[in-house]
Amino acid sequence: MINGVIFNTKELLDYMNLMQVNSELQYEIVEGIKKNTMALRLTSHVLQLIDWKNILIDPIRKQFLPLLSEYSLPHPSLEVDSLSEISSQVSPGIIHRYPKKILFLLTSFCPMYCSFCTRSYLVGPSTETLSKINLNKSLADKINALINYLKSNSDINDVVISGGDIASVETGIIDRLLANLATIKSLKTVRLATRTLLFDPKIFLPNTSFFDIITQYSDKFKQRNIELSIQCHFNHPIEISEESQQAALSLWKSGVIIRNQTVLLDGINSTIDLQKKLIKKLVASGIQPYYVYQMDMVANAEHFRTNLATCINISKNLTGVFPGFQLPRFIVDLPGGGGKRSVYEYEFYDQKYGIYGFKSPLISGGKIYYYCDPLRYLEPNIQKEWTEKKTISNLYSLN
Ligand code: SF4
Repeated sequence: MINGVIFNTKELLDYMNLMQVNSELQYEIVEGIKKNTMALRLTSHVLQLIDWKNILIDPIRKQFLPLLSEYSLPHPSLEVDSLSEISSQVSPGIIHRYPKKILFLLTSFCPMYCSFCTRSYLVGPSTETLSKINLNKSLADKINALINYLKSNSDINDVVISGGDIASVETGIIDRLLANLATIKSLKTVRLATRTLLFDPKIFLPNTSFFDIITQYSDKFKQRNIELSIQCHFNHPIEISEESQQAALSLWKSGVIIRNQTVLLDGINSTIDLQKKLIKKLVASGIQPYYVYQMDMVANAEHFRTNLATCINISKNLTGVFPGFQLPRFIVDLPGGGGKRSVYEYEFYDQKYGIYGFKSPLISGGKIYYYCDPLRYLEPNIQKEWTEKKTISNLYSLN
């Protein structure tokens, strides 16, 4: 263990012995890790947030240490790169899907790895189950490529810097990136994506290099009419510790906008009550509840996915409870690269097979993108049919 961070199964087993986790659960966790597409890494802050006495139901444990018995029957349409990001890259790490927006994958590392990560094809070290792709470019080369691309595409006014987690990158690199972005005249918004307000919030407290750089550039960007914001990621109210709250409020009081993106996760935050509590705690921490994502159809994490009806039902029951500006938008990011749509915007719903059809006019005119409910929500005979026929075209040609 270095600085209290767990990096491997041996260190985790030692820690679980210390926490008196029973041997049956230890076995379940170790075998679950072998199936995981995301690497093992646990910060000391998160280790202390997990309730090891109630580890079976702990919502934080579930996101990073799935039990072997929690994995469920995979849907045949799951993909490692479910949003087809690789094919939308105009250069390694530069994804240009929407006309005015760039998603920039600065790093492929995070302080911890979420087992449901949409970008499992890239993020973190390879695991027994999945070899990750390598963008094969240095950070400096990627930044140069981004700046050159922005200079020659003056329609782009919005850049999301993600990965990976920006908190995995030295502040000197962030400084260089932001200084370069400040010279791009067409930019209106720059967003920094991080889940480290959960993983290790102390690095965002006042008088730290991250706090200083974010607050300084927030001011500098404002003078150039650019909005610099943080996109954070809290899924459950207990993730917002006192330290997380203190860090977020300090940034907010310094004028930094922080918006939260939640992923809806079955049995973790998939109730109306938990989403209400999360919104209240976010608002009390100076964080705007921005998106709740229906989980993507990503391979090897199927037990985390709810059906779309669960997401829609939560959304309906929150409308009117909070002022509109505190209400997150409930979103499905369309498999195959159709982009984000409101969960209500589907063109059709086939309840029997659990298939929703969406269009994304801005990206691809009349093309239909399909989002499918997990098999466990369907009748056993329909599950069997899906397993045998595998594709939507095969299923529909049966009728
Ligand atoms: S923090 Fe974000 S990028 Fe990193 S593993 Fe989690 S979901 Fe993926």
